[in-house]
Amino acid sequence: MIPGAFAYHRPTSVQDAVGLLAQFGDDGRALAGGHSLIPMMKLRLAMPANLVDLAGIAELKGVRAEGGEIIVGAMTTQHDLIASGLLTDKIPILRETSEQIADPQVRYLGTLGGNVANGDPGNDMPAVMMCLDATYQVAGKKGERRIPARQFYQGAYFTALEPGDVLTAVRIPVPAAGHGFAYEKLKRKVGDYATAAAAVVLTLSGGKVASCSIGLTNVGETPLWAQEAATILLGSALDAATVKRAVAAAEAITAPASDARGPAEYRTKMAGVMLTRALARAKSRARG
Ligand SMILES: Cc1cc2nc3c(=O)[nH]c(=O)nc-3n(C[C@H](O)[C@H](O)[C@H](O)COP(=O)(O)OP(=O)(O)OC[C@H]3O[C@@H](n4cnc5c(N)ncnc54)[C@H](O)[C@@H]3O)c2cc1C
Repeated sequence: MIPGAFAYHRPTSVQDAVGLLAQFGDDGRALAGGHSLIPMMKLRLAMPANLVDLAGIAELKGVRAEGGEIIVGAMTTQHDLIASGLLTDKIPILRETSEQIADPQVRYLGTLGGNVANGDPGNDMPAVMMCLDATYQVAGKKGERRIPARQFYQGAYFTALEPGDVLTAVRIPVPAAGHGFAYEKLKRKVGDYATAAAAVVLTLSGGKVASCSIGLTNVGETPLWAQEAATILLGSALDAATVKRAVAAAEAITAPASDARGPAEYRTKMAGVMLTRALARAKSRARG
């Protein structure tokens, strides 16, 4: 399939990219790795008259530590996330998640910024960023602002980004040393989007849950942060009865569509199964 005609622009600064996108309004789109946008253009589900390629903007790439945060440039690829020693050491759930996205070809080009800005509930990184309480750094017509991932997703393909906005970086608070983590994803085959997936980050103190955060992928119009489920687990030793109550609370906030990945009831149950597995694996990895 061939996309509609478009003009191609390749700015070398964030300021120029924002200027172009602001000028084009609804007729312009940012292009990152192209692995969500180009397929949509080929299907004519997106027909931007102007593509503003962010690949020539060096400041949008890289992973660095600053204070208690890790800052990942929006154009950092999923492959770069896997290769980053800093991330493997400090926020290993990002490597575990990246390894479950698509296949190596997609990961060499697909970017973190594109994955979280896309607004597709099937993308894996948004629920992980909600779980980690990440913040998105955005440059726009009126300057720079920061939007918590937990407030960013408003509907399928509908986010807090406004025309002219460029997501420049993702800022992630470093979880406590010795934390447990897991990203469990059910997919029909290698390279597929999630039927359902769950992200867990927790800490233990004396064998009891001292903190816990849970994100769910592809079981609603948006990625989900399962706050009540995580609260139920606080102070517990993750015994079977408490985990069952937490899983029921997480399942209760899901509203998946029935589609080729299965009926809605099945996908909700699979979210519960993924969460049960993620909690067990996070517990086995946690120290304390
Ligand atoms: C075969 C295949 C399988 C896949 N499987 C998975 C999977 O299992 N899990 C998963 O999570 N993803 C999957 N993907 C999607 C892939 O991870 C994409 O790369 C990713 O979703 C989008 O990143 P991108 O850099 O390619 O963005 P693009 O496709 O270039 O852009 C996506 C959208 O985000 C906007 N955008 C991009 N960057 C910015 C920015 N910095 N600021 C503002 N707006 C921006 C664009 O305008 C566009 O609307 C798959 C893709 C393919 C082709």
